[in-house]
Amino acid sequence: MKLAFFRTKNNRYSIAALLGALEDLEVKIIVVDNPEDLFELPRDFYIALSFMSPEALHHLKLAQEIIHKGYKVIAGGSHASARPEQLLKRGVFAVFVGEAEETLRSFVLNPKPGLWKATRFVDLDKFPPFSLKYEAFSPIEITRGCPFGCAYCQTPRLFGNTVRHRSLEKVLDYARRSVAQGRKVARFISPNAFSYGSSKGIIPNIEAIEKLLKGVKEAGMREVYFGSFPSDVRPESVTEEVLDLVATYCDNRTIVIGLQSGSERILRLLKRGHNVENALHAVELIAKKGFMPYVDMIFGFPFETKDDVRKSLEISLLMHEKFGAVIHGHTFMPLPGTPFENLNMHISADILKTIGRFSSKGIIKGQWQRQLNISEEISSLEG
Ligand code: SF4
Repeated sequence: MKLAFFRTKNNRYSIAALLGALEDLEVKIIVVDNPEDLFELPRDFYIALSFMSPEALHHLKLAQEIIHKGYKVIAGGSHASARPEQLLKRGVFAVFVGEAEETLRSFVLNPKPGLWKATRFVDLDKFPPFSLKYEAFSPIEITRGCPFGCAYCQTPRLFGNTVRHRSLEKVLDYARRSVAQGRKVARFISPNAFSYGSSKGIIPNIEAIEKLLKGVKEAGMREVYFGSFPSDVRPESVTEEVLDLVATYCDNRTIVIGLQSGSERILRLLKRGHNVENALHAVELIAKKGFMPYVDMIFGFPFETKDDVRKSLEISLLMHEKFGAVIHGHTFMPLPGTPFENLNMHISADILKTIGRFSSKGIIKGQWQRQLNISEEISSLEG
């Protein structure tokens, strides 16, 4: 079997994990970063696409072009998991639903067409977090699964509600091995970094976090980032003790935290599981410990009233002025597979103007403008 992974800025971590999962199998694998290069490949290559819903339109078009040229396309990722039929209908040879480490291995050994559905969640310790063999690195995924059920989010739908942590032993082993290959910066992937080692994924396990951070430093990592890109933290997991550990062992001066709305009514509809006060307290603690809070907020839920948005903007301003917070603005996207998949984003011209004003003052940053179009694109994709 010959397999070509198409790697993009947004799927590079997933591709690294999948390459790691296939390392020991007899398969010719190449990684292609430029779409033009896909068409130079011999026709007996299977071309693997992995993408999230915000990139679905682009990838569906690319898949059709590739199929038209006579290649077999296989696809996975959060969009394929939520809309497998959409891909099969467009001629994709095999579609992977759920976590693909095990199913992709089975496919490589026996490449049958159709739906490849994961029947269980994988044990992270059984697979490498990235591929040393193919020199495809990524931050180390320390936890998969989220105990919360935010109604707009695909994560618990894809990875389940039970947290699965990679053992300290395995994390440190991969940290040491990546240092030996010249890597010097440790970052982590988790739905809530401060939940590492905790049984329910909420209350920080201080001992486990200290062993993790101290351990990666001792493994030779020169810089360590925890609670910042690419993983954020939940308000209820922010404690003085965990922030002290970050201050002691890590290099990040920002902590990324989700609030999402300044309206209690909206937080309840989103099923966030915390209120405005909890989150504000966490933001205050982050600032008190000398970090810059980077606070995720979402605008454009169709059920938001002007009053709800006013509350979000007011609290954004307050957090900026009082705690030096930067607001990471997002536009609501109706992600397939979530309870909000059939809603359409709505933001009035007035509100857009105000958000724009906040942006020009540096209070709100992030991708919210680009996401306006992406949100519409997602709504336009038929089942
Ligand atoms: S937004 Fe974060 S906390 Fe909420 S379900 Fe998704 S990953 Fe979990």
